[in-house]
Amino acid sequence: MTATETGSRLWNISTHPSTSPTPSSERDAILANPGFGGNFTDNMVRAKWTADKGWHDAELVAYGPLLLDPATNFIHYGQAIFEGLKAYRHADGSIKTFRPFKNAQRFAASARRLAMAELPEELFVASIEALVRQDHEWVPHDAEKTLYLRPFMFSTEIGLGVKPADSYEYLLIASPAGAYWPKGLKPVSVWLSDDYVRAAPGGTGEAKCAGNYAASLIAQAEASQHGCDQVVWLDAAERRWIEEMGGMNLYFVYGSGDSARLVTPRLTGSLLPGITRDSLLTVASDLGMRADEGQISVEDWKAGCESGEITEVFACGTAAVITPVGEVKSRTNGSWAVADGGTGPVTSRLRQELLDIQTGVIPDRHNWLHAIC
Ligand SMILES: *Cc1c(COP(=O)(O)O)cnc(C)c1O
Repeated sequence: MTATETGSRLWNISTHPSTSPTPSSERDAILANPGFGGNFTDNMVRAKWTADKGWHDAELVAYGPLLLDPATNFIHYGQAIFEGLKAYRHADGSIKTFRPFKNAQRFAASARRLAMAELPEELFVASIEALVRQDHEWVPHDAEKTLYLRPFMFSTEIGLGVKPADSYEYLLIASPAGAYWPKGLKPVSVWLSDDYVRAAPGGTGEAKCAGNYAASLIAQAEASQHGCDQVVWLDAAERRWIEEMGGMNLYFVYGSGDSARLVTPRLTGSLLPGITRDSLLTVASDLGMRADEGQISVEDWKAGCESGEITEVFACGTAAVITPVGEVKSRTNGSWAVADGGTGPVTSRLRQELLDIQTGVIPDRHNWLHAIC
């Protein structure tokens, strides 16, 4: 295909699928118990960008290893970004994705922050359509199972000079997914990270880049050492304001019943702007609950739980949807439980409502679903 810089044309993805796809009996066995992120479909999509040709050679090919020169730039300097979204099987057999243009926009924003080439939104969505259509048999039929899509991009220039690369590769792979947490919808315990920060003002916290995850692992390991499931990040400057939980955004529920009100930390530039977070602001207000962006300090969280004003806390993201937070531990602020440590009614209600929209059980009142096949 001819190179172009514009995102307004239709992209042709040439199709050369695997000639030895997984036998259906083997695929069925994987889909019966997919786990998370360990099995992949038969094919992938890739496209290349060079300074002279722009985006070109978009193609669907058999899933397989990449051959990389040891001096490939991203291995050394980390120009690498990714996205995550899901394809859902509806009861009528059709397959939909949820707000894929939002992922495309965030992918482009991440690319800008890392001085990488931006993938046109239309090519991002076209790659998803091509792969899901080809590998549609990998989208599970059971409720709660999905096909997780992982678009990613890295620099491919060869050489050790530190500068924005002059070539990039975009790839899309897909992985059937069961429930994200093997133990089911069970509240998690969290460790407040007083010592390590995820992101600072002016840093890369808003970008979905590989390096943010590398930098988070030591704090996650510290959380595990203290018997906690997940780490909660505080702001870098004061170590006081709540930002996120691991790779998920957070919501705090104040009050209950008709007076329940939700607050999620506002996007300061060091939080990742989650699409689930954004969707829940709307879904909560659809259900008659006030939902605002605000600032929550560690002291507010603790005092709010002790007084009973904070009734529920949950984390949200594409992979795990909504996960209740039951218990908080920290080095400098003590430990406390969120209400009785169980899963609250607002958490359950929002989770069900969002899942019902995504899986077509209730009408898609905000036009969030994108039909694929
Ligand atoms: C991806 C991600 C989220 C959640 O974003 P969604 O679009 O809701 O999946 C939250 N925090 C971090 C750090 C993330 O990487």
